[in-house]
Amino acid sequence: MTSQPAQQIPGVYHRKIGDIVVTTISDGYLDGNLEVMRNVDVEKARQLLQDAFRPARRTSVNTFLIHAKDRIAIVDTGSGNYLQPSAGHVQRNLTAADIDPKSIDTVLLTHMHPDHSAGLTDMTNGQRLFPNAELVMHENELAHWFDDGAMSKVDERSRQLYFQAGREQVAPYKDRTRLFKQGEVFPGVTAVPSLGHTPGHTAYLIASGNDQLMIWGDTVHVPEVQTAFPEAGMAFDTDLAAAAASRKRMFDRVATDRLLVAGMHVHFPAFSHLVREGSGYRLIPEAWVHAF
Ligand SMILES: [Zn+2]
Repeated sequence: MTSQPAQQIPGVYHRKIGDIVVTTISDGYLDGNLEVMRNVDVEKARQLLQDAFRPARRTSVNTFLIHAKDRIAIVDTGSGNYLQPSAGHVQRNLTAADIDPKSIDTVLLTHMHPDHSAGLTDMTNGQRLFPNAELVMHENELAHWFDDGAMSKVDERSRQLYFQAGREQVAPYKDRTRLFKQGEVFPGVTAVPSLGHTPGHTAYLIASGNDQLMIWGDTVHVPEVQTAFPEAGMAFDTDLAAAAASRKRMFDRVATDRLLVAGMHVHFPAFSHLVREGSGYRLIPEAWVHAF
């Protein structure tokens, strides 16, 4: 008797950028509601999702390996065991991609939210899940989440989920943390600060030969809605107006330059182009290729 498949083959996708190979490693997905959206009519947002055959806000969570010459970085680490059981699969998918976490020498963080930084550390024993990696992020990011004054201004849930948990996730990397303002942060990778979603939120531009890829971090959380309405933000944007301004700047740049983009919450495997449409934009997923 044959049995029907019950599980996906893990989420791994390779894309060549010049001499660099970028690999999307899926952390899984998170389900949520639209009430956390800001500066957009919730019914309009719901309609956009329905029109796109996405009846609920299901958010892909992606991380990206960057295989440069003799070195490997990972951009973000997923959510570890900190959020929903539908996410937290980075380690499993690294195994599927035949990547030993010990071989990753750099973790580039877009920002310190739990769906990006909770995969840094095994919170049951405080061990680094990337034991040989240097931790690299924008200087504002660490400063903000370690700022007791900023922490005293938020509600209890945010204090626990963002400030306390963030501090615990990065603590085991204390003696191996490198902070930047901007510039090249890894061979072929330039930091593009895109502040607002969090105070140090950063995109990473990968360039090799004639190819470029903008990994734009959390420029969007609900791609269908925020490309149509770039003003639309999330309740958990630290600074809604600054996040919207950064989003618009990023959209304008990648659409004008016809840049290939990928994002942590663009539907897996995330490689896409952004085109102008009406008063907003639309993401067009890139065709899959087997031979890369
Ligand atoms: Zn996120």
